[in-house]
Amino acid sequence: MADSIRTKAIVLNSIRWQDSSKIVSLFTENAGIVKVIARGAFRSNSPFAGKLESMLIVEAIILVKESRSLQILKEIEVTDTLSRIKSDMNIYPYGFAILEIVSQLFNDHPADPVFYNFIVTMLESIQKIKNPAVVILYLLLKVASYLGFKPNLQTCQSGEMQNCDQSVFLSLDDGSIFCKNCGIIGSNILKLKREEFYYLKNLQNWNHRRITDIINDHPNLDNLTQLMLNYINFHLEHELRMSALHMLGK
Ligand SMILES: [Zn+2]
Repeated sequence: MADSIRTKAIVLNSIRWQDSSKIVSLFTENAGIVKVIARGAFRSNSPFAGKLESMLIVEAIILVKESRSLQILKEIEVTDTLSRIKSDMNIYPYGFAILEIVSQLFNDHPADPVFYNFIVTMLESIQKIKNPAVVILYLLLKVASYLGFKPNLQTCQSGEMQNCDQSVFLSLDDGSIFCKNCGIIGSNILKLKREEFYYLKNLQNWNHRRITDIINDHPNLDNLTQLMLNYINFHLEHELRMSALHMLGK
């Protein structure tokens, strides 16, 4: 017997399957990533027409059987098209970068409604914020926390930073911050300027619902994003990639 579940979801991608169907990958609020068959999706009168494209926010009814790796899509309705992302080539790659992160992180990960809703907020935010690259950096900071290795961007090891050098270091091993005046500098470290550290610290403490209020981006945003990606990948068995940003020449 299959169970019928109703869940909110983000469409990650879909591929053609046999003559007239599609296999669709959904990031669901209540069941993690679920692969479903949309039977007859390519028929002209299909109720699924136009509802299975990447980056649509939907509500789906899925017939689930634990013993199957592919589930069956019964019904689907679009609740948000995120149309600005798709119509603006300056935003689009950031939207796909977010989906890429979700696809890689949640491939074998249990459902997490809180993280699902956080991702929806991030997708909505890149449509409104002045520089969507800020959202990607913010997302990486939160992903590090989510995976259990939140960088400790509080103080240099001496406590206050008056005596600190202009360059500080992020320890890959434990996410702590120190400079050559304060700490013993180990080998697994990433260098950043003090003002970059302050920018990251401020961003890490920012409320995700107010991320679109950030009007100051940072001249080295790309470097900081790469730094966070390197930090995360130091801890992961499978490297996290964001190929979508190559579309922007990054
Ligand atoms: Zn210091």
